[in-house]
Amino acid sequence: MIEPLPVDPALVEAAETLTADAAAARHGELADRIRRANRLYYEEDAPELADAEYDALFRELVAIEAAHPELVTSDSPTQRVGGAPVGGRFPEVRHQHPMLSLANAFSHDELRAFDARVRRGLGLPQAPEPAEGLTYVAELKIDGLAISLRYERGRLALGATRGDGTTGEDVTPNLRTIRSIPERLTEPATLEARGEVYMPKAEFARINAEREEAGLPLYANPRNSGAGSLRQKDAAVTASRRLSTWVYQLLEDATPAAAQAGPFEAPAAGGAVTVSSQSAALARLKALGFQVNPDVAPGLDIEGVIAFTEKWREARHELPYETDGVVVKVDRFDQQERLGMVSRAPRWAIAYKFPPEQVETLLEDIVPYVGRTGTLTPVAHLKPAKVAGSTVARATLHNLDEVRRKDIRIGDTVVLQKAGDVIPEVVCPVLDKRPPNAREFQMPEACPVCGTPIVRDEGAVRHYCPNPACPARVSQEFGHFVSRGAMDIEGAGWAVLSQLLGRGLVKSRSDFYRLTVEDLESLERFGRKSAENLYSAIQRSRSRPLARVINGLGIPQVGETTAIDLARWVMAQVPPGEGWLPRIGAFLRQVAREDPERFAEVEGVGPTVSQALARWFVDDATSHALDELAEVGVEPEPPAVAAGEGGDGPLAGKTVVVTGAIEGFSREEAEEAVRAAGGKPAGSVSKKTDLVVAGPGAGSKLAKAEELGIRVVDADGFRRIVAGEDALGETNSGEEPS
Ligand code: NAD
Repeated sequence: MIEPLPVDPALVEAAETLTADAAAARHGELADRIRRANRLYYEEDAPELADAEYDALFRELVAIEAAHPELVTSDSPTQRVGGAPVGGRFPEVRHQHPMLSLANAFSHDELRAFDARVRRGLGLPQAPEPAEGLTYVAELKIDGLAISLRYERGRLALGATRGDGTTGEDVTPNLRTIRSIPERLTEPATLEARGEVYMPKAEFARINAEREEAGLPLYANPRNSGAGSLRQKDAAVTASRRLSTWVYQLLEDATPAAAQAGPFEAPAAGGAVTVSSQSAALARLKALGFQVNPDVAPGLDIEGVIAFTEKWREARHELPYETDGVVVKVDRFDQQERLGMVSRAPRWAIAYKFPPEQVETLLEDIVPYVGRTGTLTPVAHLKPAKVAGSTVARATLHNLDEVRRKDIRIGDTVVLQKAGDVIPEVVCPVLDKRPPNAREFQMPEACPVCGTPIVRDEGAVRHYCPNPACPARVSQEFGHFVSRGAMDIEGAGWAVLSQLLGRGLVKSRSDFYRLTVEDLESLERFGRKSAENLYSAIQRSRSRPLARVINGLGIPQVGETTAIDLARWVMAQVPPGEGWLPRIGAFLRQVAREDPERFAEVEGVGPTVSQALARWFVDDATSHALDELAEVGVEPEPPAVAAGEGGDGPLAGKTVVVTGAIEGFSREEAEEAVRAAGGKPAGSVSKKTDLVVAGPGAGSKLAKAEELGIRVVDADGFRRIVAGEDALGETNSGEEPS
């Protein structure tokens, strides 16, 4: 029997409670988010998620597939490795043997479960019995970029990135600039060596200091700046970056990875087998002249591996390079071969990821907040504590079940961490420190804002306020409407909104467009000038792109991405022109009434979103929202005229590359803004590029733009350009850069 990827039983249990439709919807959503994250991480070297957030999504996907195996398809991210090579930048290389990923473990128990699987696979007794002949090698997991180095008769012949595991990028000239990669081995051997290219922490700091000085966006972390530095078209740029390597895998023709080559090319015959274990391979790699990490521990049982992970959890901060975990490998090659591989990873190895930093603090209170859709979310009010670089005073506890499951009580000392060093999370209470007067949190019976009795649907985890006019819901809804991803009304913050709502000046979305300068001037702390500014910001927002207007409606299940897809679909059905918005409203109502399945034609829309759309455009209370906006003169811009051609906006005819995190925009939004301004978003920088919009985490594309002398702007500069406040001027189109 083929064992599936390791799964978290609690997540699988949760996934089993989902109906087939709900599981399929969640599966689709997760797969899309992971695919997008993969593209940004592997192809653009500019991730928008923290690794731990990514890992959490991935684990949920694995759990859903374990509970609903019919959802596993060959294109699921669980079946694939890495990202595709970026077309055109480098020659493609088909790997002689697949370059796999590794299954992950996030706890010591998951390492023990790995040991149990290995023992089962090898027919050895389970712990605590000794497993005769089985030992593990523990290595630090280097947070870099995987590479393959092919040597022929002792000379470096080819160096490639992992790419999608089957096909990588030929980056040989770049790799030749890295001093720790030998050009010639100590003997004329023909072999493949694999390892990790990384950027030392000090080099990362140096480059970022230089960039800061030059006013350039900073790199997000050493891993992405290392990957970006290697994947440069100009090897001289790579050479200037002082990258280094740790090599950890030797592939001679009879090593297990070669034997498991599967559908790939058969290994060349006649190669000599020189080593029979991972520990011997490491020694041989060193003797051949490669740089091999000295912090390797062979001869361990699983408890020894666990001790190794504990030792390095803290000590890693002292290392001059980044490591995000420990890779555990069955030492003997014959055993590796018997264990074989699952879809995307060998069964004989696992990557243990270090847990995020944790601190203890006092949970002073749990306060339910009412969200945009009425959901009551218990939020932990904490004694401010410093964790992973910033001070945290609030953390969401998600829902009542979660509070009960973790047994968190008001007055407890709790363990706090940041998922992926970003999102504050209460892990558990410290029971030894629980005071006698610690209180259980209760969901209120009535909405804390409007007093309507709270509802919890049969079998659902969510408590919510069912009153659509609840001021908390309404203010969140309006907050969403004016937010950056929607109508983007600058200056309409919470303080302003609560006054507008409190005084009854705004009761519906369209009321924003009925406000006069005098109305605004009457608000607290407003003078004539600030009232005029807010007034003109409101007027400017009348022509936001259709996708933003749709996003601003706050239709349940419809976020920015779906709004963009829906806008494109609508555009194909309802041609722009006179009275466009009311015609769109009428069309959507008709589809909702007569043929709601048609919503599934929209890219990325499954049954759940389809139903949510149908419900919204059938309901009398909501279905006329677009007409109401049209009445007050909202006239959205259509989505890009076929891929940006023929538009006449500020970016008409211009090719624009967006890279890194652009503050205030998701990637799609930024590209949508390019299209809406008449431009054409492109994936890679070339001489034809007119503008590069770069934010933190921008990697190789930014360097390339600088090299070609292409204009680079940050988020604010970009806003000015699309708003027509800053002309792009003469650009590079078709010409050689000077
Ligand atoms: P992985 O990072 O979990 O582990 C596999 C890789 O570890 C190997 O391919 C190899 O390159 C590397 N490695 C380092 N040291 C090693 C050693 N001593 N021996 C063997 N291998 C070693 O898997 P992955 O498929 O490379 O990437 C998935 C991970 O990448 C995720 O868990 C996440 O952390 C990160 N990721 C993040 C994002 C994001 O948006 N933040 C997106 C995609 C991937």
